[in-house]
Amino acid sequence: MHPTSWFVQDLDERLSVESVALLTDGGAKALPFERRGGQIWTDLERTRQPGERLTVRVRYGGTPREAPRPPWDGGFTWTETPGGEPWIASSVQVNGADLWWPTKDHPSDEPDSMALSFTVPRPLVAASNGRLRRVEDNGEARTYHWFVSTPINNYGVALNVAPYRTVDTTYASTSGTDIPVTFWVVPAHYQQAEKRLPQFLDHLRFYEETLGPYPFRADKYGIAETPHLGMEHQTIIAYGSDFSNNEFGFDYLHHHELGHEWWGNLVTAADWSDFWLHEGFCTYMQALYAEELGGREAYHSYLQGSRGGINNEQPVAPRGSRSTLEMYYLPSGEGDGDIYSKGAWILHSLRHLVGDEAFFEALRRMANPRPELRRATDGRQCRFATTDDFLRIAEAASGRELDWFFEVYLRQPALPRLVTERSGDELRLRWDAPEELSFPMPVPVRVGGETRRVKMKGGEGRLALPNADAEVQVDRKNWILKANGG
Ligand SMILES: [Zn+2]
Repeated sequence: MHPTSWFVQDLDERLSVESVALLTDGGAKALPFERRGGQIWTDLERTRQPGERLTVRVRYGGTPREAPRPPWDGGFTWTETPGGEPWIASSVQVNGADLWWPTKDHPSDEPDSMALSFTVPRPLVAASNGRLRRVEDNGEARTYHWFVSTPINNYGVALNVAPYRTVDTTYASTSGTDIPVTFWVVPAHYQQAEKRLPQFLDHLRFYEETLGPYPFRADKYGIAETPHLGMEHQTIIAYGSDFSNNEFGFDYLHHHELGHEWWGNLVTAADWSDFWLHEGFCTYMQALYAEELGGREAYHSYLQGSRGGINNEQPVAPRGSRSTLEMYYLPSGEGDGDIYSKGAWILHSLRHLVGDEAFFEALRRMANPRPELRRATDGRQCRFATTDDFLRIAEAASGRELDWFFEVYLRQPALPRLVTERSGDELRLRWDAPEELSFPMPVPVRVGGETRRVKMKGGEGRLALPNADAEVQVDRKNWILKANGG
């Protein structure tokens, strides 16, 4: 915290600023400001001290950027519903919330609450984050007043406009409270939405049982049908899928976006370099749900389906600051999905290493490090986290030293290679880890119908076989993410 005489906000250059004012009990006092590229520099007239509270009003306007390829290359989408009515959505995760409102365009800070008001002509409906406080009727138009009662990621703030119909219900949370649930859907899809909602509620139950109570139960759980694929907009998840199930029998898009209410909205990466805490964790949740529906074989098969897409070209959690673009794309400009699929595989390998009890305890503690946070609904439950926080939590939950695991899998890109050698009735195993890093990962080996866990102290292990012809299968289920298989 430093004293400052400037208040700096990001705002896209497409939008113009009419005035900036300091609000006091005595009224509004105009403050001098400058546009410096995509920023507004407001002169606070004298040096302000840490802890001093100021209320600043920015009057701005214009036409926000149209999203070239939503939700990845974002902005506003202006399109039509199947019935030919206006359908508008925002999606700004990659490009920043400053595409439509003045904000600090960095994940390390969040508004502690937010009031949002939108005026739209009838019969359009404006669905947004938090709770609907009231709808003001202005004749031809209506104003929707929303209020978010907890901290919110700036990219999670969203506007969805269409002549929406709603499917409403109540969900009995494991916390003991009833949560209002609303699905805003375009009229043509009302029946599909009605049919789909029970599955969405089962996703909620799964997350609450796996990770802890739905964190935003003081506001609502909402889903808005969008013209783009999806996004984890807090309490108003964007759903742009086609109501179909995947081969594992569930609507993965909704399952994934809902998972971000824990991994992304409750627990937020302090810098985009830790983006995998959102995407890798969230992607792994779909494998766990496949396991819940279809058993262990379905779990392995779900993960196997994403194994081919892992690039290993840049670290999943590099040290130092990164932008969303740097995490989403390789220097060549090609997309990089490693924060998703490799992140999920890293959690899968961690589960093998520490066992189910410690692993699931680590997930629950990562979501809520202290039991009282599971009960909090006033915003205290939300926090920023880093990869090192997860390292410490996983170490505490498992009682193991895990630096080596995080170093190899997250801090550098290459995968370890498992070298096996058989001589007579002995199997020798050795980890060939990148940069000569330590990698004492135990290896499951199946011999004669029985699976043994071979300790790999110093990265090497041996297993005595019953005889020279014994059939041996090394890591048959692919529990370990490695360069050769798995
Ligand atoms: Zn995601």
